[in-house]
Amino acid sequence: MDQQSAHRPSNLFYLSRLRRPVVDRAEGIYLWTKDGRRFIDGSSGPIAVNLGYSNPAVIEAMKRQMERTTFAYRLHFENEPAEELATALAEKLGYLDRIFFVSGGSEAVESCIKLARQWAVATGQPGRWKVIARMPSYHGGTYGSLAVTGDGLLTDTFSDQMRVMPTVPAPTAYRDRDNLSLEERGLRYADMLEERILAEGPETVLAFIMEPIGGAATGALVAPDSYYGRIRQICDRYGILLIHDEVMSGVGRTGKFLGGDHWNCRPDIISLSKGIGSGYVPLGALAAPERIVKPVLDMGGFQHGHTYAGNPLACAAGLAILQEMDRLDLVDNAAKMGDLLLEELGGLAKRFPFIGDVRGKGLMAAIELVADSQTMQPLPASYHTNQKILDRAYERGLILYSRRVKGGVQGDYVMVAPPLIVTADEVREIVSILGDSLEAVARELDL
Ligand code: PLP
Repeated sequence: MDQQSAHRPSNLFYLSRLRRPVVDRAEGIYLWTKDGRRFIDGSSGPIAVNLGYSNPAVIEAMKRQMERTTFAYRLHFENEPAEELATALAEKLGYLDRIFFVSGGSEAVESCIKLARQWAVATGQPGRWKVIARMPSYHGGTYGSLAVTGDGLLTDTFSDQMRVMPTVPAPTAYRDRDNLSLEERGLRYADMLEERILAEGPETVLAFIMEPIGGAATGALVAPDSYYGRIRQICDRYGILLIHDEVMSGVGRTGKFLGGDHWNCRPDIISLSKGIGSGYVPLGALAAPERIVKPVLDMGGFQHGHTYAGNPLACAAGLAILQEMDRLDLVDNAAKMGDLLLEELGGLAKRFPFIGDVRGKGLMAAIELVADSQTMQPLPASYHTNQKILDRAYERGLILYSRRVKGGVQGDYVMVAPPLIVTADEVREIVSILGDSLEAVARELDL
């Protein structure tokens, strides 16, 4: 991509064919490369760096912990940072007050599924094993989390080596052109879960997993309000656990501590990651109420736990991140800046007719690109519209996020999700560069 790519170690391999410039340092919502270019991070990396880069208090807390110990195996010792972080998280999570730490998002999802399964066995329901998921969706790249990921591009290659779980359509109700109101469509999508449960045999279904606000596969997908409560009712009707994957939507991202907090949906188990480590450390967690955890502990304990679970350095960073989020009132800032972001993106939609939808909550927002905003017909995949927008923005020093998914009905999306410390001027700067990038792509593709 430029001369700096010569510095790239030749034994690394990545998904991207592009050679990227070498990063030098990062601060706030900016990163600088070795050749002195500045990038504004409009997507918090992969929607992870909620606190922004190089927060001095977090770095200080990590240094302090490093001087004490970076590791003490959890089966040999308790450690204070893990205890304190669990207490601080539990205070924010209310009834979901039993916490288990892991090292990332995929593992968090896997551990949620394993806890659910062990709960079923412990409560005399060993016939329950299916976890219904949504198509499209993203829950991770390890086999257990991939099995509930609704993306044929990822599962097709690996399906012989795992049991891909049943899916229901993700609630892309905003696309449907019918005589139903949006709320009626929300109920319709939720009722598809009940139909799937009945088709599978309710006694075989263990859980339903969903991202309360869809992320990597759907681009800030918010279901109609009616969807959330109905999903809870259906799960209750059949004794099925509701797992919320809050890896992307959690930790203040959407203007509430959890994405699901915008509705009254009371999940049984949640996964967290991204924001709790905020790019400082690999960290994830599951949280569940005592009524789920107790039978599992009574039966001999949770059969999960990797070497780095509850690592003291990771947890010390996690604790400082939560404290900084509180001190800087970042959940509130995410709500306020999110409103501004959606308003500004709405302005772009007026300028560019190929923006079919602007959506999201707080600082988890997206635009969807379509051939026709009346019919919501997607643009041809061969245009690679989302990648072109990402590239044009990157050339202009703005980082955005998108993925292509196989399955589902939606078109290309581009997510805008800067760190929660973003200011109003920075939101406007991000949207202005995005506007220039869209202009360039419109010329290139003659949209
Ligand atoms: N779950 C959701 C909702 C995600 O968005 C992601 C990552 O994008 C994951 C799970 C997997 O997290 P990780 O990449 O940390 O394994």
